[in-house]
Amino acid sequence: MVKSQATRTLLFATANQHKLAELREMVPAHIRIVGLDAYPELPDIIEDGSTFRENAYIKAATLRTHTGLECMAEDSGLIVPALDGMPGIYSARYAGTHGDARANIAKLLTEMSQIDERSAHFHSCICRISDKGISYYEGDCHGVILREPQGSEGFGYDPVFRGLGYDDSFACMTQAAKNAISHRSISLAALLADLQD
Ligand code: IMP
Repeated sequence: MVKSQATRTLLFATANQHKLAELREMVPAHIRIVGLDAYPELPDIIEDGSTFRENAYIKAATLRTHTGLECMAEDSGLIVPALDGMPGIYSARYAGTHGDARANIAKLLTEMSQIDERSAHFHSCICRISDKGISYYEGDCHGVILREPQGSEGFGYDPVFRGLGYDDSFACMTQAAKNAISHRSISLAALLADLQD
């Protein structure tokens, strides 16, 4: 007889519904992902770290202090070497307003209008804080920045990012196809492997 696994809840300090949807689609059925909308009393978390790790830690630690429970957070962004690594940790607010993807893309395309070297990668860092301590899980997805937006799926910079070896932008791919190669799927897989220990 196949024994069903007990449900395990992972508290993720993110209010980004796109990220939560991606994470939920990637975890096995016995894992439930709970986001920051379950804690409306928490004030906005100021992500003022200078690295993805620091920002992931700040978010996870804030939720851990509030709940006393095991907590995770994911911090991610787009790194463009030709722009000295920008937008990097500023990806969500590159053009000034947090989460304004259209403006962020417009700024990125303007900054790169005269640049032919268009390689880029997404980076994802998950921080986990439990009674055992602090752990980090990271992942990258390499590709190029397109010259104009393509597709309407996904979020953030998806319309202008094409993975290496692919013909279309992330915003043209199904969620499952993006999840098969994304930076977030790699960091999440590392976390899930560790949870089984
Ligand atoms: P965070 O929520 O502070 O980690 O900001 C992440 C930002 O990086 C998002 O708002 C997007 O601008 C960008 N980003 C991260 N992952 C992705 C992705 O999978 N597709 C497109 N943009 C992403």
